[in-house]
Amino acid sequence: MRNDVLAQLVAMSNNLGDPALDYVIVGEGNTSCRADADTFWVKASGTELHTIDRTGFVRVSLERILAMLDAAELIDEQVKQRLSEARVDPLTGLGSPMDDGARPSIESILHAICLSLEGINFVGHTHPTVVNAILCSKKAEDTIQERLFPDEITLCGPAPAYVPYADPGLPLARKLQNVLTSYLNDYEEHPRVILLQNHGLIAIGRTPIEVENITAMYVKAARILLGTYALGGPRFLNPRDAERIHTRPDEVYRREILSGEGGSD
Ligand SMILES: [Zn+2]
Repeated sequence: MRNDVLAQLVAMSNNLGDPALDYVIVGEGNTSCRADADTFWVKASGTELHTIDRTGFVRVSLERILAMLDAAELIDEQVKQRLSEARVDPLTGLGSPMDDGARPSIESILHAICLSLEGINFVGHTHPTVVNAILCSKKAEDTIQERLFPDEITLCGPAPAYVPYADPGLPLARKLQNVLTSYLNDYEEHPRVILLQNHGLIAIGRTPIEVENITAMYVKAARILLGTYALGGPRFLNPRDAERIHTRPDEVYRREILSGEGGSD
């Protein structure tokens, strides 16, 4: 991984928070990246993606965050306490003499799960209006099952993972863990897009540009899907054609280039 991942995380967050993109407003959404093998940076509560800088992130222990998943049910106050205790440097961030420093986002547990997946270094969680128009609809789960166009598959993978609604925090994180296990069984790879019912989208990638590209492409797919309902509804790709796009060598190569990991030759 390149040096100064925090600078890369800040840039990615500012881009995802661009008001023109309509992915988030006010304090919505959160982002994270691997700092090293044992820790990660995550957005602090009460910060905005569009304007966030280095001080808006806290560094936390991956192990301590993941340990919350093994605990018995925790009440809100205990979750808050455990998140605070997971900080590697409690003085990092927005801390003033009057408080005990920046608090990791309640969604840090989701980030820890995603950052534990093989090859994943950056995570972007947003609430794009067009994606939530689908995820807050009665047809959400049915309509996201099939693919619409080749570039959606190249960037966003064979299918998004779909997580039924759960209370944000520990209940949602536990549900995500179960969904990821069955996704890995079904597809033999992890998803690139995770959709949270009545909530929003998570894009995961090796690089910040990959997270931005996946988010942009899934938002485009959502806009197209909604548009098709004005003209009789979606005509999905044949599953065989979709599978072919996912495995074609030239598409695999394009995916690597688009992730920012491909060579220049
Ligand atoms: Zn959220």
